[in-house]
Amino acid sequence: MDPLVVIDKVNKHYGDLHVLKDISTTVGRGEVVVVIGPSGSGKSTLCRAINRLETIDSGTITIDGKTLPEEGRGLAKLRADVGMVFQSFNLFAHKSVLENVTLGPRRVRGVSKADADKRAMELLDRVGVANQAKKMPSQLSGGQQQRVAIARSLAMNPKLILLDEPTSALDPEMINEVLDVMITLAHDGMTMVVVTHEMGFARKAANRVLFMADGEIVEQADPEQFFTNPQSPRAKDFLSKIL
Ligand code: ADP
Ligand code: MG
Repeated sequence: MDPLVVIDKVNKHYGDLHVLKDISTTVGRGEVVVVIGPSGSGKSTLCRAINRLETIDSGTITIDGKTLPEEGRGLAKLRADVGMVFQSFNLFAHKSVLENVTLGPRRVRGVSKADADKRAMELLDRVGVANQAKKMPSQLSGGQQQRVAIARSLAMNPKLILLDEPTSALDPEMINEVLDVMITLAHDGMTMVVVTHEMGFARKAANRVLFMADGEIVEQADPEQFFTNPQSPRAKDFLSKIL
């Protein structure tokens, strides 16, 4: 495996609460890792630590050979290399769909308007919303907005995309349109860390499932093995509740 993200003995506290306990794992280039586990187990904190939206108390996180800097230009560069898609779409409400996708490349990467527009239209087409480019985010359905959010993160040509429960705020009929885009990305070789309980996605697209509970990685396995034959009592208990 060619490691893209190396997480080594990471610890994080919020006051007395130990939210990440000696977390170590590696994400290979092109690998798709699904993170699953009960609410409050530290999944979002781990995602946020990977792109330094959250500081860590000890341990190291290395992305493409570079240990995460605390601040400065290195940090901006790193954030640009790591796309992030949240549960609540987080589009810029006062910018059109097209502007949402072109803003990062123009401001951070210095791409010309013409080039940024062209690439944005290709990406919007890829996620199936090219015909919505001129609209404002509020005029789109939740599923469409989340696909725009994915196109926006792709526009920065990230090395890795983190998706934190990207479908959990969506109405059921919109979940598959977002999962289908994610599956295509995975098959195209994008490196992805996805927090989700969507077993269908994990089975179709994930190389590995990482089960977290109480701030620890309790179990790592391939999806088929994890869902059909979990090893730890906590994973068995969790799966019995969601399946
Ligand atoms: P998950 O995404 O698995 O539901 P989180 O990473 O969001 O879990 O949270 C892990 C724990 O840390 C939870 O107990 C949560 O309440 C707590 N927590 C998360 N963010 C903060 C914060 N900014 N301040 C204090 N506690 C927090
Ligand atoms: Mg979370």
